[in-house]
Amino acid sequence: PTTATTTPEREHIFRSRLPDIPINNNLPLHSYLFQNLPEHSHRPCLISAGKTYSYAETHLLCRKTAAGLSKLGVKKGDVVMILLQNCPEFVFTFFGASMIGAISTPANPFYTSCEIFKQLKASNSKLIVTQSQYVDKLNSNSEFKIGEDFQVITTDSHNPPENCLDFYDLIEISEEHDISETQIDPEDPVALPFSSGTTGLPKGVILTHKSLSTSVAQQVDGENPNLYLKTDDVLLCVLPLFHIFSLNSVLMVALRRGSGILIMPKFEITAMAELVEKHRVSVAMVVPPLVLALAKTPAVAEYDLSSIRLVMSGAAPLGKELEDALRSRIPQAVLGQGYGMTEAGPVLSMCPGFAKEPLPYKAGSCGIVVRNAEMKVVDPDSGASVGYNEPGEIWIRGEQIMKGYLNNPEATTATVDAQGWLRTGDIGYVDDDDEVFIVDRVKEIIKYKGFQVAPAELESLLINHPSIADAAVVSQKDEAVGEIPVAFVVRSNGSELTEEKVKQYIAKQVVFYKKLHKVFFAQTIPKSPSGKILRKELRARIPSSSPSR
Ligand code: AMP
Repeated sequence: PTTATTTPEREHIFRSRLPDIPINNNLPLHSYLFQNLPEHSHRPCLISAGKTYSYAETHLLCRKTAAGLSKLGVKKGDVVMILLQNCPEFVFTFFGASMIGAISTPANPFYTSCEIFKQLKASNSKLIVTQSQYVDKLNSNSEFKIGEDFQVITTDSHNPPENCLDFYDLIEISEEHDISETQIDPEDPVALPFSSGTTGLPKGVILTHKSLSTSVAQQVDGENPNLYLKTDDVLLCVLPLFHIFSLNSVLMVALRRGSGILIMPKFEITAMAELVEKHRVSVAMVVPPLVLALAKTPAVAEYDLSSIRLVMSGAAPLGKELEDALRSRIPQAVLGQGYGMTEAGPVLSMCPGFAKEPLPYKAGSCGIVVRNAEMKVVDPDSGASVGYNEPGEIWIRGEQIMKGYLNNPEATTATVDAQGWLRTGDIGYVDDDDEVFIVDRVKEIIKYKGFQVAPAELESLLINHPSIADAAVVSQKDEAVGEIPVAFVVRSNGSELTEEKVKQYIAKQVVFYKKLHKVFFAQTIPKSPSGKILRKELRARIPSSSPSR
């Protein structure tokens, strides 16, 4: 039976093969996720190196954090930056903020000072929750002073660095502080991750209580859900929680189902294999480089990975060879892909293999569109939506998508149209079995190990260099990490700037995955009459003999 429908405007709309379900998305996100708390309050919730927190303890610590933040003056609508590696305090802060109507903006703790302050300013946050090892970076900005322009809470030491507050001091003294008064509307923002979307600089993506609870419901609620989780499942939480894939499709879905969450602060393959064995991890959300490590690291063979029943790869395309290699290492597991985008809340489609009764699916498939949502495939030339097996840009509509970009109505209207359709900038098609395949990307972003690199961000840094007249950054395919950023640079008259100097200049200002791997010098940067960089043309200029690294 076909699930595509033709509306009077002759639009082809794809829907899930699974029936729509009633979604309880009028609750605040934390209430929705902890809704079934009484049923599993004593079960393990957060499993971390030092300690396991039950569901009841986790919920209590979130409430105490809410009270602590509130006592510190954080109010509804305020933004809190979470600058943490994966740890239980990430969870307490995120939901503590949610409980008082505040908004969390998660940031990569490996960011340079310059990147952190860009997000701090853009999100207008006045409070950072972090670990003491990152405080030096917060002290190195002459414009902002800790304790005056923003507050810092550190989670890992009872002797916090100068001018910082201790997380546990704050939450212990706050037990009695009343947080029950906060009225939260489902349309209020709760998370503000940053993404460059289809073009330009990173922007704050407004995700509301309603968008995130809808997205979680689309994955795990109802009969025979796309992502079938049980309370005795243990999910591997090694992907960084500052990225929406891990925040939503690991943490939030697990909380909703009452499953255990094994929190790893950083990825190291043998440590991970050891923990999988020790804690009998059953569900692993991964990205392609992690699949590579799992499939190809010889030492992994020494560990018992027989507890894994599901592996879902997302954030970047997973090749068939890699999929096969992993399948031979963990043959008992159902393996497949999810397709997400921060602005889409984030999941657009997921392998049907994760349903209670697994359905067959094809290699390279990103599964079927989530329930309670509509997908279109739009021909970029004609603007018409196309039918089965025809490629075009993927568009998605539903209550899960972002409300918009923070303080950026132009970028919002360029991304979400008046009918509520979000354009992804991805080219794909839906096959006869309703499976979604992504074949290309027309947007600018470069994905290094699933991390976003925005060319516009690197270009603006390059153009700031006194010896650079113009610059463009494009991607080059790389087997190990997916894609790497390379630059084309036009030197100013008389400049003898070298490739090495340009690389160092960028490396000082950005996190590791945004570093330039190659710099080509050019006479001009090819542009369209409207001034858009012709990136395809530049990509074609990368010598095919040029090794990616
Ligand atoms: P982000 O907002 O960082 O999650 O990046 C979203 C983008 O990652 C998507 O628009 C795609 O270009 C890419 N992406 C995510 N999942 C997949 C997948 N399974 N296959 C191919 N590309 C993907």
